[in-house]
Amino acid sequence: MNFTDSPSAHAEIAGTVQDHVDAARLAASLAALARFGGRDDGGVSRETLTDIDLAARRHLIEQARALGCEVSTDDCGNLFFRRPGREDLPPVLTGSHADTQPVGGKYDGAYGVLAGLEVIAALNAAGVETRRPIEVVSWTNEEGSRFGPGAMGSSAFVDPGRLAIYRDAVDPAGVRFGDALDAALTASADVPRLPMPRPMAACVELHIEQGPVLEAANVPLGVVTGIQAVRWFRVDCAGTMAHAGTTPMAVRRDAMAVAVAIAQELYALAPRDAAAGSNELRLTLGRWTVAPNSVNTIPGHVSFTVDMRCLDDAALDRAEAALRAACVRHAQASDAVTVERFFHRTPTHFPGTMLDAIERACTRASEQAGRAMPMRLTSGAFHDAMYLADHCPTAMIFVPSKGGISHNAAEDTDATELFLGAKALAYTVAELACR
Ligand SMILES: [Zn+2]
Repeated sequence: MNFTDSPSAHAEIAGTVQDHVDAARLAASLAALARFGGRDDGGVSRETLTDIDLAARRHLIEQARALGCEVSTDDCGNLFFRRPGREDLPPVLTGSHADTQPVGGKYDGAYGVLAGLEVIAALNAAGVETRRPIEVVSWTNEEGSRFGPGAMGSSAFVDPGRLAIYRDAVDPAGVRFGDALDAALTASADVPRLPMPRPMAACVELHIEQGPVLEAANVPLGVVTGIQAVRWFRVDCAGTMAHAGTTPMAVRRDAMAVAVAIAQELYALAPRDAAAGSNELRLTLGRWTVAPNSVNTIPGHVSFTVDMRCLDDAALDRAEAALRAACVRHAQASDAVTVERFFHRTPTHFPGTMLDAIERACTRASEQAGRAMPMRLTSGAFHDAMYLADHCPTAMIFVPSKGGISHNAAEDTDATELFLGAKALAYTVAELACR
């Protein structure tokens, strides 16, 4: 390869790498990782830092070394697979996570990591040397199902102060995240540990959409423009426990009646309006605790969580104000109502230069395959890229999810679309690594 420093030369190199992505090699690599925690129903159970996950991490290390990569880790157990560049500059980063929900699918996360390794294989096959190094990352504990919160690896990488708090997270069996992490680091003692964070030139994450938009449009590749803002609340309603048969309705201090009234006001803020599209306010009241949780006792205490999401932070401001006002108003019918906001993220908007690079890559791959041109969409789910966006220019590529289903053994994506996604990633990463 001859290197000139012009955008057209970079595009030519990127096209060559894209054309060396191999569908069969990618499919075999996806099938091999899916065997770690593979289930009879086609799903995968590979929660973070379990024995199965540790075996999968070892498998990834060996796969990367076989491709000639240098492997490193960090204090949060993130794994980095590096293909050196001509110059020792900050690398272009790609990848995702290899952990799953208790019952997850083969592609959520794993696809982004393995497509990254396929990009390395394509670079090797094309005989291309890039100016910058390229690193493929497998972030620790993106799912957050065993140890909360999610995206620990990527968020600790960009802000290592978070790790001390994460280390005290405990799983349902009483295992500390810090202890599970130390065991994983001991198991990979042959892997050098690098500091967190390190400078990165750019980051591209390829992921399944986990929603219905691309499939409905019959579009194989999506350019992700940003990620919704989110706020989490806990609402606690206190009442007075009393006998269900003997206590007249007029004198009850019923914590459930108050909680339900607040919930109804909340749902009224988020009407089911198909015309709202991805800009709608999304509300989920997902976790309820009721005490004493008895069929014939008036509830003395009810608490529930509220997950509010929207691309528009101002809409979340209005929804939060309405929630707080409802809690004040309904407190009069109970002993006390408190509302606590325990997590929030402002919306993520990926930079235009990154979107343009991804669009070029997706357009070339789609054209070659005779498929519809890429579309721009937003992400309703969190991703590691959300945290990397705080650290370096970042963006994401989506491929369709059949039926919009994920966090489910039935999660699936067409093999051709998985191939096109890897091709789009290869072009994007190669082009960025030439700059
Ligand atoms: Zn994921």
